[in-house]
Amino acid sequence: MSISKRAFAVGKIADIRPEAPLRGKHGAMDFFGEDVFNTAAINKYLPKPAAKKLLDTINNGARIDPEIAADVAHGMKQWAIERGATHFTHWFQPLTGSTAEKHDSFLELDGGRAIMSFSAKNLIIGEPDASSFPSGGIRCTFEARGYTAWDPTSPAFIKRHANGATLCIPTAFCSYTGEALDKKTPLLRSCQSLSAAVKRLMKCFGQPEKRVKITLGPEQEYFLIDKNFYFSRPDLLQTGRTLFGATPPKHQQLEDHYFGSIKQRVLNFMNDVEVELWKLGIPAKTRHNEVAPAQFELAPMFEEVNLAVDHNMLVMDVLRQTADRHGLVCLLHEKPFAGINGSGKHNNWSVSYGDTNLLNPGTDPHQNAIFLTMLCCVIEAVDNHSDILRMSVAGAGNDHRLGANEAPPAIISVYLGDQLSDVIEQLENGVPTSSRHGGFMRIGVDTLPPLPKDATDRNRTSPFAFTGNKFEFRAPGSSQSCSGPMTVLNTIVADSVDKMADRLAKLQERDINKGLQDILRDIIKKHKRIIFNGDGYTEEWRREAQNRGLPNADSTMDALRAITSEKNLRLFERYGVYNQKELESRFEVFMEEYHRRIRIEGEIALDIARSMIIPVVIREYKDAVSALKSAADSGISAGTGGLKHNIKILGEGLEDLTEKTENMAAALNGLHEEILGAMADLRLTVDRLERVIADDLWPLPKYREMLFIY
Ligand code: ADP
Ligand code: MG
Repeated sequence: MSISKRAFAVGKIADIRPEAPLRGKHGAMDFFGEDVFNTAAINKYLPKPAAKKLLDTINNGARIDPEIAADVAHGMKQWAIERGATHFTHWFQPLTGSTAEKHDSFLELDGGRAIMSFSAKNLIIGEPDASSFPSGGIRCTFEARGYTAWDPTSPAFIKRHANGATLCIPTAFCSYTGEALDKKTPLLRSCQSLSAAVKRLMKCFGQPEKRVKITLGPEQEYFLIDKNFYFSRPDLLQTGRTLFGATPPKHQQLEDHYFGSIKQRVLNFMNDVEVELWKLGIPAKTRHNEVAPAQFELAPMFEEVNLAVDHNMLVMDVLRQTADRHGLVCLLHEKPFAGINGSGKHNNWSVSYGDTNLLNPGTDPHQNAIFLTMLCCVIEAVDNHSDILRMSVAGAGNDHRLGANEAPPAIISVYLGDQLSDVIEQLENGVPTSSRHGGFMRIGVDTLPPLPKDATDRNRTSPFAFTGNKFEFRAPGSSQSCSGPMTVLNTIVADSVDKMADRLAKLQERDINKGLQDILRDIIKKHKRIIFNGDGYTEEWRREAQNRGLPNADSTMDALRAITSEKNLRLFERYGVYNQKELESRFEVFMEEYHRRIRIEGEIALDIARSMIIPVVIREYKDAVSALKSAADSGISAGTGGLKHNIKILGEGLEDLTEKTENMAAALNGLHEEILGAMADLRLTVDRLERVIADDLWPLPKYREMLFIY
């Protein structure tokens, strides 16, 4: 493809003009949540008693009363059809990592007359023919029945398309025998476990029972490229990442993209995305250019974790679909382009009790004691179970980020910042009595110095950082569901919170301050190896972490092994988050997915090399050889030196390329390591050739075009 052809194609798409901005009666935010069956809709469309019960479930976690299902179904249908819906679907999250939906129309025939029907049963339970979803052996195809079950805590919504709409009901997905086949069920179970543990803990602190809310704010990174480029890249089309492409002279070195002024075409896109999200009640808040050229970020306000996970799945959906309307493609892969930053999804996580964020260092001693207790529980949890936390973010795409000297390393550690580390150190070396002036602390009494409220220090190299009033788990990949990481985090913290409650419960009330201090000191002594405030990208840290005995699983295969350990099985079983069968099935599904992805990449790399690159090199070589021959035939000597020089480069390149291509073909019969190795070798050769072959002959859009023309 020639540059001029590319520029022409791009110019046409870029001509798309934005529609007039949406404005409601009271401003642009009028339509927030208009496509969601939210509190206002519930109150309007349900009889009072049913509305009250449903809202009690949504807001206070009360058990759902099945008696109200008929009223809810009726009201929901009414609400949906008034908004143009003709179909409904149970919307769920199978182990593929994306969402699934199977639409049924509301159509019912009543003596030949069409009526719109949606029953309590339609709402509560679905039975998709789900035999083709990965189940890791839980469900053989001959007993393929899977069930979807209504999750009333995540509100129904409608998805619109140009000429209609579909009512979507968030559901859990499980097998006939009750095993979870999805990512939502274990998440909900883990929330329950952590809630119960936190309630026990707070009781030890003499607090009345309140609702526990686990919160998540996922920051989503993504790339945008022009659709024309995308369609000329079989690797992007099939694998989501470029398998070839020379690094352009200028990419992110000048740091001129991060937080830079956003281009018009991108702003138009972002605005449309946000309008779509706001309609769906998703509180999109922040947008900006990211570090790499053509890379961006979207961050919503945090929400209750189950809802936030569902919303993030929708965010990814809306990003992709809106990009399509703008002649763009949104790349959610963790590493679409080699040599420049990849994309992550920072999971900001916290736990609140009633209205109090337990990870907020308060000003009063009581809240400080609770804060330090929670902090120590998280430290203990991460140190005890860093292997499964790492496992929860494993995947072929994320392998290119973690441990590859960008984003956080594959070694899990906790960043606290200097101020908080200081507090922790004081706790560890705790002086038994206290004076505010002395600057040391004793928790739970009014002599406690105020804790630093703002950990302004932002260490971007840490995989798990305390950021003021929440932890930020930075290892999850941009395309991954937050569900897995959140399920693991909730479970491991439930474990340490429970242990803490066990110990506190043994103390007499008057001993609690002293006793707590001893417990926290023990935890810090035992688990401080997980705390690291330095640069996580350095070789020294790798060595240091090894000395500290911290695991460093730098590949998916290594990381996944954590699922199979006896210790982790016992943990998940104890909390009823995964049983053995569910855990084994996940191991199988994730392994298989990993191997399939690598194989697909290898096959596409081979295909591109054989059918796109080799022919072009031959063409150029042939041209040069015949030019040399014509020169000789015409008795011309000028230029023949140059021709010979180029023939040598092309000829050697061709031989090298042929060899690497055949190696690639052979590697496809081998293990994933061989495939990855052959792909890397082949890429080096192809990227070298990209720099010498005529630009108008090169069949793949180049990095310098894809990353800068949009
Ligand atoms: P950055 O990490 O880029 O500085 P922000 O400080 O804006 O970003 O916060 C990132 C995310 O953290 C946002 O989605 C925000 O809503 C979320 N967040 C803030 N407080 C909490 C909390 N208590 N629990 C969970 N997420 C939170
Ligand atoms: Mg952040």
